[in-house]
Amino acid sequence: MSNPNSTFPDCQVYKRVGVIGGGQLAWMLGLAARDLGIELIVQTPSATDSAVSVARDVIYAPIDDLAATQALSQRVDVITFENEFVDLVGLEKLADAGVCFRPSLSSLAPLLDKLEQRQFLESLGLAIPKFVGADHVATLTEVSKTFAFPVVVKARRHGYDGQGTFVIKDVGAWDSFWQDRPDFNSFLIEAFVPFRCELGLMAARSVSGEVAFHPLVETQQEDQVCRRVIAPGPVSSEITSQAQAMAQTLLEALDFVGILGIEFFLTADNQLLINEIAPRTHNSGHYTIEACHTSQFAQHLLAITGRGLGNPDLQSPAGVMINLLGFETATSDYGEKRQTLSQIPQATVHWYGKTQAYPGRKLGHVTVLLHNQEPETITKTLSQIESIWYS
Ligand code: ADP
Repeated sequence: MSNPNSTFPDCQVYKRVGVIGGGQLAWMLGLAARDLGIELIVQTPSATDSAVSVARDVIYAPIDDLAATQALSQRVDVITFENEFVDLVGLEKLADAGVCFRPSLSSLAPLLDKLEQRQFLESLGLAIPKFVGADHVATLTEVSKTFAFPVVVKARRHGYDGQGTFVIKDVGAWDSFWQDRPDFNSFLIEAFVPFRCELGLMAARSVSGEVAFHPLVETQQEDQVCRRVIAPGPVSSEITSQAQAMAQTLLEALDFVGILGIEFFLTADNQLLINEIAPRTHNSGHYTIEACHTSQFAQHLLAITGRGLGNPDLQSPAGVMINLLGFETATSDYGEKRQTLSQIPQATVHWYGKTQAYPGRKLGHVTVLLHNQEPETITKTLSQIESIWYS
C-alpha cells in the first residue's frame, strides 16, 4: 500500500526500529526516535548500557546473539546497527528469511574489514593512502621496499577509537610490534599521511535514492582518538564539493540506505584521501544534534524507516563539539564539572550515563553553538571547555 508520508510510492513507512547495540550512539538514536514518534527496541547485553534508559524495550543479549536478533526482528519493522561489529554470515540467514536490515547486509559487506574496505574504495577509483595487506609484506625488507617509515599498521577488524591503529616510527618499533603479534594476516599496513587536517562528512541516502550531506567538518584527533570537531571545517567550497562527490559515488555503489560517516585526510597540496568509512552514525556528527536542522540520528531514522530526508544544513553560523574523555580510572558522574560546562552560553552537555570512567573512555560530549567562524572564537571556546573538563 502506498503511503503519503513516503517520497517513494511503493515504500512502506516503518514505525518500529530495532538497534543492535546499546551504547551512546544507540542512546542518541533513541532520543531522536522519541521526537519522531518512532518506537525503538535495542539488543544490548547490560542494563547499564547507555541506550537502555531511552529504549521502548530492551532485549538483553550480546550483540552477536543471533537468536536474540531473531526475537528482535519479530517486534520491529527494520533492524539497524550501532557499530560495524556485525556477524554477516549469521545475519544472512535472517535476511534470507525476510528480516529487513538497513543498511542492507550487502552494502555493509565491503566495509567491515579495513583491508577489504580499502580494496573496495580503490576499485571505485576513490583516493586513499597507499596500503597493502600485512601478510603480503611480512618481512622488514619487504616493507622497506614498499613504504618509508613511519608506517601505520591497522587491525583489519574490531578496532575503534584508535585501539587497533599503530603508528610505527622505525625499524626498532617494527620489530617489537610484531614480536607478540605473529598473525600478519589480520593487519594491513599503510603509508603515514602527513595531513594538513582531518575532515569528516556525514552522508545519508534514502530508500528512494535521495542523498543529503551534513556540513564538512574538521576533526581533531589525539592519540588516534577524536577530541574535537569544528563545523564547518576550514576548507574551500571546491574541497567540500569533492568530498560530497566522493560520498555520492560511495553511497550509490553500495546502494546504501541510512547514514554513514566518512573520515578524510586533507594533504598540504589539497588532496583529499579517504581514511575510513563508518557505515553508521559517527562521533564526528554529534554536533548536528544542536547545530543542524536535522541531526545525524534523525536523518538515519528518516532514511531507514522509508521517509524523505531532512535538511542537514547548519542552523547556526558555526559550532564545536568536544568529547569528554575519561582522564582517570574512577566511579564518578562528574556532576560538578558538568554543571560548570552547562553554564557556558549556547552549550549543551550530553552525558552517556556510564558509571565507570577510565582514561580515554568517551563519557559524554559538549556542543557549543558559535556566532561566527573566527579562529580566535573557536580556539577560545575549545580551550575553555577543555580546561574545565581536564583541570
Ligand atoms: P579507528 O578506526 O580506530 O578510528 P583510524 O584508522 O580512523 O582508527 O585512525 C585513527 C586516527 O589515527 C586517525 O584519525 C588519524 O589521526 C590517525 N591515522 C590513521 N591512519 C593514518 C595514516 N595512514 N596516516 C596518518 N595518520 C593516521
